Amino acid sequence: MNFDGLMVSVSGVRGRVGDALTPEVMATFAAAFGAWATARHPGRPIVVGRDSRVSGPMFTRVVHAALESVGCTVLDIGMVPTPTVQLEVEHHHAAGGLAITASHNPIEWNALKFIGPSGLFLSAAEGAEMRALLETGIPRAPWDRLGAVVRESQAIQRHIDAVLALPFLDVAAIRARAFPVALDCCHGAGSEIMPALLDALGCTVSAIGMTADGRFPRPPEPVAENLGDLSALVRSSGAVVGFATDPDVDRLALVDEHGRAIGEDYTLAMAVRAVLPSRPGRVVTNLSTSKVVQDAAHDHGAEFRFAPVGEVNVALAMREAGATIGGEGNGGVILPELHLGRDAPVAIALVLHLLATTGKPVSAFVTEHPRYVIVKDKLDRPDVPLDTVYAALRARFPDAVADMQDGLRLDWPDRWVHLRPSGTEPIVRVIAEAPSDEAARQLVADAREPLSLLAGVS
Ligand code: MG
Repeated sequence: MNFDGLMVSVSGVRGRVGDALTPEVMATFAAAFGAWATARHPGRPIVVGRDSRVSGPMFTRVVHAALESVGCTVLDIGMVPTPTVQLEVEHHHAAGGLAITASHNPIEWNALKFIGPSGLFLSAAEGAEMRALLETGIPRAPWDRLGAVVRESQAIQRHIDAVLALPFLDVAAIRARAFPVALDCCHGAGSEIMPALLDALGCTVSAIGMTADGRFPRPPEPVAENLGDLSALVRSSGAVVGFATDPDVDRLALVDEHGRAIGEDYTLAMAVRAVLPSRPGRVVTNLSTSKVVQDAAHDHGAEFRFAPVGEVNVALAMREAGATIGGEGNGGVILPELHLGRDAPVAIALVLHLLATTGKPVSAFVTEHPRYVIVKDKLDRPDVPLDTVYAALRARFPDAVADMQDGLRLDWPDRWVHLRPSGTEPIVRVIAEAPSDEAARQLVADAREPLSLLAGVS
């Protein structure tokens, strides 16, 4: 089969609908996953859920049939957040789960994401084992051992109940505040769970983007520049906070009470500040996460650790560290007490808990702490090994703490720079964060220098 143009990663495959991502491709990967998962856990079901994308129903039918062809029982939970699929895999002791979602990618994309029996995305080793079936052949079931599809309608309610049942979450205090809030689900899969959760938390909700038809009216990534309509809604409705989720509801971004989109990094920083007073412990983020999260951990005396970029890498590092909370600076909050996956409903509950228990407005969590500027850049990958580049940079900055888990990160008390080769393009990504734009740009320039010299570019 031709996989040209398809982006195949450890825990998923994605592509443009009508181009690289065809029903044939989806069927092949779904069948391989089903055969792999069922061989390891015979007799257990596979959970299938999807986001709101236009191609979602078509690919769901394909995925169902492919899983039936390898003898799996399919638990179809409908249009749900990706973290709901992860939770349902655990709830049903399933052999695994498939989420049909391209997350925050543009409207023409879709994807299949592979979830293992513990509710985590597949690790590199598991993904390689599963994809080996594409070479050796997928074992199909004979006519009398085909699978079947069972509908399951309680998944979203179970997710909401699980969030509300978090022992440290002060639901009464949140409800007592009766917060007016604004919400933008960008026509994604959050349109059912988010208003229901906010209602259960006693909030009055003003909302946009609630038609879950996948026809995104703006780029669906919840970065600050895409949240103009939510900012306007916060101002016009008098909300104390604005919440924006991506189409599969694992990332949450915030708008403050003045209508300012404060940037996704603050979601995890605020979640850390919400959790640590009742749950002291370790905090883990990926190496490209803003220092505002590290500062939040340090303010509460928590040990802080880095993990390589990639959700499953963070989840695995959190499991190993026994972390209390962690995630990614892109608005991905992971609370292991619920499950080891990025979860926007959990993030919303934690942010409201923080507002209710501190009595502070959202803007205070920006203005009361050190502020930073992040600058991102990318360069052509040099012909020389990147280790040579890293060694040159380490020699040039002997005062920095170096982390080599995933590319090179150099750390100072108030700034850092991270160089990392892209997994899908022949480029090196450079991210720097410092107290000022000028200082962050200087760090990027410093990092570029050995790259340029060694690559023979002036
Ligand atoms: Mg997502």
